Parts: sequence; structure tokens; C-alpha cells
Amino acid sequence: MKSFSSYERQEHFDQLSQEEWDVLVIGGGITGSGIALDAASRGMKTAVVEMQDYAAGTSSRSTKLVHGGLRYLKQFEVKMVAEVGKEREIVYENGPHVTTPEWMMLPFHEGGNFGPFSTNVGLRVYDYLAGVKKSERRTMLSAEEAIEREPLVKQEGLKGAGFYVEYKTDDARLTLEVMKKAVEYGASSTNYAKVVDFIYNENGTIHGAKIEDTVTGKQYHVKAKKIVNAGGPWVDELREIDGSKKGKTLQLTKGVHLVFDQSKFPLKQAVYFDSPDGRMIFAIPRDGKTYVGTTDTEYQEEIAHPTMTEADRDYILDAIHTMFPSVEVTANDVESSWAGLRPLIHEDGKDPSEISRKDEIFVSDSGLISMAGGKLTGYRKMAQTAVDLVRDQLMEEYGIRYSDSETKHMPISGGDVGGSKGFKQFKKERIQIGESIGMSKEEAEKLVRLYGSNVDSVFHIYKNRKQDAEEAGIDPIVFAQLVYGLEAELTYKPVDFFIRRTGALFFNIHWVHEHKEAVIDYMAKELNYTEAQKSDYKEELELLLKEAVNPVEYV
Ligand SMILES: Cc1cc2nc3c(=O)[nH]c(=O)nc-3n(C[C@H](O)[C@H](O)[C@H](O)COP(=O)(O)OP(=O)(O)OC[C@H]3O[C@@H](n4cnc5c(N)ncnc54)[C@H](O)[C@@H]3O)c2cc1C
Repeated sequence: MKSFSSYERQEHFDQLSQEEWDVLVIGGGITGSGIALDAASRGMKTAVVEMQDYAAGTSSRSTKLVHGGLRYLKQFEVKMVAEVGKEREIVYENGPHVTTPEWMMLPFHEGGNFGPFSTNVGLRVYDYLAGVKKSERRTMLSAEEAIEREPLVKQEGLKGAGFYVEYKTDDARLTLEVMKKAVEYGASSTNYAKVVDFIYNENGTIHGAKIEDTVTGKQYHVKAKKIVNAGGPWVDELREIDGSKKGKTLQLTKGVHLVFDQSKFPLKQAVYFDSPDGRMIFAIPRDGKTYVGTTDTEYQEEIAHPTMTEADRDYILDAIHTMFPSVEVTANDVESSWAGLRPLIHEDGKDPSEISRKDEIFVSDSGLISMAGGKLTGYRKMAQTAVDLVRDQLMEEYGIRYSDSETKHMPISGGDVGGSKGFKQFKKERIQIGESIGMSKEEAEKLVRLYGSNVDSVFHIYKNRKQDAEEAGIDPIVFAQLVYGLEAELTYKPVDFFIRRTGALFFNIHWVHEHKEAVIDYMAKELNYTEAQKSDYKEELELLLKEAVNPVEYV
């Protein structure tokens, strides 16, 4: 059907239940999206169901870095660092609009975890393992050079800093762009579609799933030759339904990030530093804000709804005050926050921050394939591994032949900009087009970064539907983004738009307050919300706006 339009929700469900799929992917986080793209682009008949919104689980709640995980070198995870490190470049080339190089400073102080020698060796090994290109290889900074780059860093006892490249991303948009590409290749993908049970053959082999449309409550039977569980923190819940939760299980740990306005925390340079208890923390400037995180604590509450507690907030504030002594931010300056759950594979006797981040595949007796662990950065390689297994099984059991993965050199949706080199010129040209249709340079640039080569569609809506925007009482740029979201990004609820489609609830929370009423009214009209739906969705957004700023205590 190749549609990703919320106006065709019902058709998506109809199609799901009418066909037999080669592979049904459960979960529309980065893992499920990657698997969907790899499978669909090999020609497999692929369907995806996501019980919330795309990336609403962990994939919108990360540190938003495409990185090799320098700190895992301390745990001698050499193979993982090498593999994930190499993937950074691939993720960047295939979607330079959602991924941007970011030089990172790693300061070292007297008595700290790292010294010049260990930092230099560590970064050198990292460069080597990750196959970092020459222009992006690490350098070492003297204390004076480090202070020049970031005067807010604690100067007392500063001995110097490592300086190396990572990549900044928008995790939710990366996930969406990958999923959109999978849909371009023919995958059928639906959000608010929850697997509530599995269907088995008489010999006990898994052969489908019962899916519930969580908006209408209607259920559908979906048939598939192979089922991949990419449920992130919910992987074990699905294994439980399958009766196969045994052996290794998941351990969830929570990570929180805080967002400050640059007027309160004017960080110029991304810094990766030791917190007072020795954990590593990032502080990163982004779009007029500075965000800092993350914590790492065990979590046993509701999986769908992790939040910042007072202890999380104080831990990060304390880390900021220690590394940036002149920055006097307080709890009142927290403009937004988010909390995410790491779906780690349990290892007896290990502290959460020491558990390996590597991915693993479990195949149950019924044939359910579950993929857990891993990193956002390594999604493409993880997907390739999972789909190779599906391909081999399809060959063995059904004699159907599919080819090898082709995603290594495949731009994701929005990534048709001529790679990282071409993106500069692409951006320049599109900004000019944006200006020529009445936007400011900054407005146009923001849209180009958000949508990449799909920005043309957003510009088109902006240019041709100003009258509709006015009638809806919505700013024409917001309107263009919203219409694009409804027609081409399966935006169904207001929170989808304000969190996963635009990232605004985290990085531009005032914008959300400014536009929420008009946006909700428009969505209610366009998607025929009932009165109850409209008020529920409004309440959901209000709750998340509140929790982003105010800590929630678990009882
Ligand atoms: C605090 C934190 C910081 C991180 N920072 C980084 C980083 O900077 N860089 C990096 O590379 N990695 C990072 N990670 C790791 C990375 O975010 C995760 O590895 C990745 O997002 C996991 O994606 P996933 O698709 O497996 O899980 P999820 O994104 O959680 O997706 C699973 C999806 O499955 C859906 N689902 C579950 N059950 C069902 C069902 N029954 N029916 C239908 N759908 C279902 C859920 O709704 C969910 O959307 C971080 C993680 C955390 C927690």
C-alpha cells in the first residue's frame, strides 16, 4: 500500500489481516524499524506493528548520540566498540540530515578517572577500532586550550582534555526516517497496534499474532511465517505471552536527561565528564539549549512511563555544579527532561552501568525471534543480523530465497541529499527556496535539518495552504509540519507531533505551549476524534508537559 498516512489507518489494519506476511515485526523503535527496512528492501513481505507511537519507547529517550561508546572500552568491550564505532559513519552517510558530527571534549583533572596518558591511549584505540577518518581523529588539548574551548569547565586541577568526534542525532526522527524508508520499500507499518497474543500451528510453531487497534479496541488476526520481537524493554513481556521467558532475561535501568536554556547554562562545547560518583555524563549544546545526562538506576515501575524523580534531578544538578562550578542552575531552571529505559540483558552480580550493551537474539521453541540489548547506533547491523536469520529460516523451511542486506549504502527517508558531502550544498539550496517562499533563513534551515530531502513536501504545503493554516488559526510553518506529519508520518495523537515528530517537548517546550490548542483542534477535526478522545489526548499531553518539568515520586 506504501502509505504512511493517518487518514488511511483503517486500510492499514485491513491490509494487515488480509495477507500472509513473510515477517511480522513487533515494535517500531529503532530496532524494529531497522529490521523492517532490511527485510522490506530484500523483498520480504514485511509488516510492523507498534503498540504506542514509533520511538515512543526507548528510541526517543536516549542521549541522542550516534557513538561507539568510548566508555565501554573501560570494560574491554573491544568487539562491540569496534562494530558500533564503524556504524557511526554509515548512519551519518545515510542520513546526514538527522546526524551531525559533534566534537566532544573529555577533560581530565588531578585525581580524576582519566589522565592524559590513559585518555590519549583510550582515544587512539577508539579511533583505530572505529576506523575513524583522518580529519576526525582525536587530538589532545592543553588545559589552556580546553578552557578556551569551554570556559565553564572546572579550571582547578585541570590538566588537559581529549578532543574527539561523535555524532549528534534526533533518535525519534532517525527511527521514523528508517521506518518511512521501509514503507517506501513496501512494508506495511501501523502504530497504536498492539500484539496481545500469538497464534500457533497445531505443532506449536508460531504462525501469527492477535493485534489490537489500541484506538478502537478492535482485534485482528495477522498471519506471518516469521515473527520478530523487537519490543525493547517489553521483549520479556512478549516472551512471557509466548511462554518462552527463560534463561537470560532483561534488566531495565533508567536514564534521565535534563534540559536548560542556554541563557542559564551557556555551554559552547559538548563535554563528556566524570560525575562525582565516577559515572560518565554528557553535557551537550543543542538548538539554544544545553542538555545533560544520564543517570543509570535500576527500574521496576511501569515500563511505558518512566519519569524524572527528585533524586535523578539532584544527581545531575550535582554533577553540573561539580564540573561547571560557575554554572548556578537550580531545579527551577530545568526547562524539560526525559527518562528512558535501557533494555539490558541481565548478568548476575553486575552493576547496571557495567552490564554489556551488546545485542543478543533469542529464538524460542515456538520460533519467536527476540532481539534485545544493543544501541541506537548499531541498529543497522543488528537488523542485518536478525534478517539474515529470518532469511536462512525462510530458505530452510519454505525454500524461499532472499538476497543479502543492502542497507549499508542506502539513504534513509529524507537522506537523498548526496551524502554528508552533498548535504552542505543541498542545505544551501533549500534554504534559498524556503526564503523565496517567505520563510526566514533560520526557519528554513530548521526545516531542512528536520526533514532532509522531504523538506520539499513541507515547503509545498507551506506555500499552497496558507489559507487553510489561517482558517485553522495555526502558524503556517507549524501547519505545514502538522499536515506533513498527518499525511506522511502516521502522526495520530498530539503527543506524537510534539514529541516524536518535532522533538519540541524536549527542546522547545514554549513552542508546544504556544501551539497546542490550535494543533489539537485541527487534529481532532481531521482525524475525527470523539469528544472523549480529544479530552484524553489533551490530558496526556498536559501530563507529559508537567512531568517534563516536575519530578514524580514512585510510591
Ligand atoms: C538513557 C539512555 C540513553 C541512551 N543513549 C544512547 C545513545 O546516545 N546512543 C545509542 O546508540 N544508544 C543509546 N541508548 C540505547 C538506545 O536508546 C536503545 O538501545 C534503543 O533505543 C532501543 O531501541 P528498541 O527499538 O530496541 O526499543 P524501543 O525503542 O523501546 O522500541 C520497542 C518498541 O516496541 C513496542 N512494543 C512493545 N511491546 C509491544 C507489543 N506487544 N505490540 C506492539 N508493539 C510493542 C514499544 O511500544 C516500543 O516502541 C540509550 C538508552 C537509554 C535508556
